Amino acid sequence: MIDFHTHTPAWRTATWLGGARFSVNDFITFMDTADIERAVVLSHDGLFDARPQANDELAAFVGQCPDRLIGFGTVHPRRPDAAAEVDRMMSLLGLRGLKLHPWLQGFSLHEHSLDPVCEALTAQHGILLSHDGTPPYSTPAQIAALARRHPRLPVVLGHGGLHDCWREALALTRETANLYLCICGTPPYAARRILADAPAGRVLFGTDAGLSDRKSQHYATARIAEIDGWGITDDQRRAMLVDNPRRLLAWTTG
Ligand SMILES: [Zn+2]
Repeated sequence: MIDFHTHTPAWRTATWLGGARFSVNDFITFMDTADIERAVVLSHDGLFDARPQANDELAAFVGQCPDRLIGFGTVHPRRPDAAAEVDRMMSLLGLRGLKLHPWLQGFSLHEHSLDPVCEALTAQHGILLSHDGTPPYSTPAQIAALARRHPRLPVVLGHGGLHDCWREALALTRETANLYLCICGTPPYAARRILADAPAGRVLFGTDAGLSDRKSQHYATARIAEIDGWGITDDQRRAMLVDNPRRLLAWTTG
């Protein structure tokens, strides 16, 4: 399977999220035990302090195992050099997408500063993955509005709306052709409905592995085990865990 939502260790930012410490080898060992073939790895420290250095460190981490780890960097869209940093992290560092966390990073997805950032990302064949599911910032409707302004950019709802917004996430995914939904922390009853009603080619799965301060990744492994309880068909499982993420990632190198 391909895990579309994992995080780097926390190297410099101790936060209320905890922040795990682990090596690339530790992470690959976890992936092997959880049967994860490839993982999209998002910044941790960059979400709290979006300096280019955070993208350098992410690139160095995934660069130790480039066949299996795919890095998505981050920028703060209000910084004047944000679009240039998207260019640099994609073309120079080999990252394949951009992670935004409007709630933690403190901006609205309706801000105009996001347009040059999205244009730079589209030009580089990148993917935008946004945290979602936590009003007032990061609602699926706000993210869908941005996706509609940039119809050639694949935009991923990183948490499928979580508990509060999954109905909105599902409705907007159905109505927005370039919007994808990653089931990650989404409750099982919601995941069941999403799989039944969302466009089959636009559902992804993620564990948020790496975020917790626990050395082991028991929580992530439990999320994978949960899938069996969703009443999912073999076709749905294969689309969500293999075919959809593979197709989307292949687009980034096209
Ligand atoms: Zn996350």
